[in-house]
Amino acid sequence: MARDRSPKCKQCRREGMKLFLKGERCLTEKCAIERRSYPPGEHGRGRIKQSEYLLQLREKQKARRYYGLLETQFRTYYAKATRQGGVTGENLLRMLETRLDNVVYRLGFAASRAQARQLVRHGHFLVNGRRVNIPSYQVKPDDVVTLKNGSSAAQLVRDATDLTAAVAPWLQADHEGLTGKVLKWPERQEIDTPVQEQLIVELYSK
Ligand code: SF4
Repeated sequence: MARDRSPKCKQCRREGMKLFLKGERCLTEKCAIERRSYPPGEHGRGRIKQSEYLLQLREKQKARRYYGLLETQFRTYYAKATRQGGVTGENLLRMLETRLDNVVYRLGFAASRAQARQLVRHGHFLVNGRRVNIPSYQVKPDDVVTLKNGSSAAQLVRDATDLTAAVAPWLQADHEGLTGKVLKWPERQEIDTPVQEQLIVELYSK
C-alpha cells in the first residue's frame, strides 16, 4: 500500500501545529514545531493570502496527515461518510477513529500512528482473538484488541504505553495485559483530532 513519504516534521510545520507523527520525539524539545513554527520552504516566513478555499484545503490536509492517509484513501472515506445517515463530517471522523491502526495508537500500544500501522501490518495484533493485519480494518463496539501472545514487539508496545498519558474515553486499555476494548462508537466531543470537519465537507461539496 502506498503511503505518504514526505518528511513528517515538514507536514506539521505546513499545518502550523503538532500532528504527533514521530512518536517520542514529538514530546521533546527536538520537535520542529517548537524550534521553527513557520511553514517550510523559501517563502515560509512570508505573508500568505488567506482565502476560504485555502482554509478548507488546509483543514483537509491536516486531517489526512493526522491519520496518515493518501488523498485517494481520504476521499473514499468521505464518499462513504456521505452515504451514511447523520452528519457527514462526524461520520468521517468516526470512521477514521475506528481504523485499527488508530485504535492501537489511541490505546497507547504504539508511539505514533505510523508505528501502529506497521505493528498491525506485521500481524502483532489480534481482534477478538483473530489475527488482523489490515491497518484500515474498522473496529466496532465490544471488539477486543490484544497483542499476540509471544509477539516480538512486546517490549516496543510496553515502551509506548509509558508515553501514554490518557486513553480515549470510548476505549478501555489494560496496559499490564496489553489488551484493549472498544466500549462504544466515539462521539464527536470524544475525538480530540484538531480539525474542523465542516470545512472538509465544504471543500469536497464544491
Ligand atoms: Fe510534528 Fe512530531 Fe515532528 Fe514535532 S517532532 S514537528 S509533532 S512530527
